[in-house]
Amino acid sequence: SAGLVDAVDGAMRQADGVRRLGVRANADTPEDAARARRFGAEGIGLCRTEHMFLGDRRQLVEAMILARTDTERERSLKALLPLQRQDFIGILEAMDGLPVTIRLLDPPLHEFLPDRTELAVRLAAAEAHGSPPSTHDAELLDAVNRMHEENPMLGLRGVRLGLVAPGLVAMQVRAIAEAVVERKRAGGDPRAEIMVPLIDTVEELRLVREEVEQVLAEVSTHSGVPVECPIGTMIELPRAALTAGRIAEEAQFFSFGTNDLTQTTWGFSRDDVEAAFFSTYLDKGIFKVSPFETIDRDGVGRLVQIAVAEGRAARPGLKIGVCGEHGGDPDSVHYFHAVGLDYVSCSPFRVPVARLEAGRAALPETEASDSR
Ligand code: PEP
Ligand code: MG
Repeated sequence: SAGLVDAVDGAMRQADGVRRLGVRANADTPEDAARARRFGAEGIGLCRTEHMFLGDRRQLVEAMILARTDTERERSLKALLPLQRQDFIGILEAMDGLPVTIRLLDPPLHEFLPDRTELAVRLAAAEAHGSPPSTHDAELLDAVNRMHEENPMLGLRGVRLGLVAPGLVAMQVRAIAEAVVERKRAGGDPRAEIMVPLIDTVEELRLVREEVEQVLAEVSTHSGVPVECPIGTMIELPRAALTAGRIAEEAQFFSFGTNDLTQTTWGFSRDDVEAAFFSTYLDKGIFKVSPFETIDRDGVGRLVQIAVAEGRAARPGLKIGVCGEHGGDPDSVHYFHAVGLDYVSCSPFRVPVARLEAGRAALPETEASDSR
């Protein structure tokens, strides 16, 4: 009813008036970005680029995997570039004037590689029919077997892939930079930020950052349109949290990936725990709520605190957010407020909840200062 809508609007306005935490959304498509904006998101805290390599584009990815020469690989990357540029133009347009943190590709490799069993079955079927086996399938199976990982979540993901696969980072950054140029030429106000996933050491970030800066400079010079994107990093591995002071020397912002940070701090597979043993753990009271849902203050939370303190000591005013699932969990939002993060980023549908909770977290302070 109208009364309820007014009450919610009022509460939301009050919360927005007092909260210290910014609220952004995780969105990967222009549609999600637009929805996030309607819910009051003040930017995109995490634009994952993984899905942009699936669907119709799988063939290009396969071609990249099978490439035997630099020229062949460059051909697939070149074909992906305009598609990526279009992806980013759409998102930057939907979020015009607001920050959009675009994360470089962070695939668990098995999601990108063609299915081994399927390929093997197809080859076996061809053989059974007496038809000649497809060389494409045979080569693909061979390549996929060579790249197979037993623990893909701990494998060739994130920055590691960017460092191992020549041209991939450059292609993505070029697409971002060219999208910025195009949006500026159209009179827009694009605010892209570039985020590097799964950093363990400052050396990884230094290498990627050099490459990113080089591409940004090239596109700026070539287009005559200045492209300046802050370059930051995810903090989602314990080692990164513990060495955040050194990492901050190369990072213009941090964003905590509490999904991976929870997985790696506890040593729990984020994909397997639910089925395997979480219900038993909950029944036995080992924890009251899943640490993937609500931030574990004693473990993951301490790593967050260490990284905030070290990061800001090295780089005063360092902008820090969180973009794991915890960014939209009420209890966790209170925690992120307390440790002094600048923003939380969550699913578009959780944005209103995050705004309200961020306001509630700040309310005691406001009341205390009002009564002084
Ligand atoms: C995270 O690890 O918390 C994160 C936001 O990244 P992803 O969920 O894509 O691994
Ligand atoms: Mg992650």
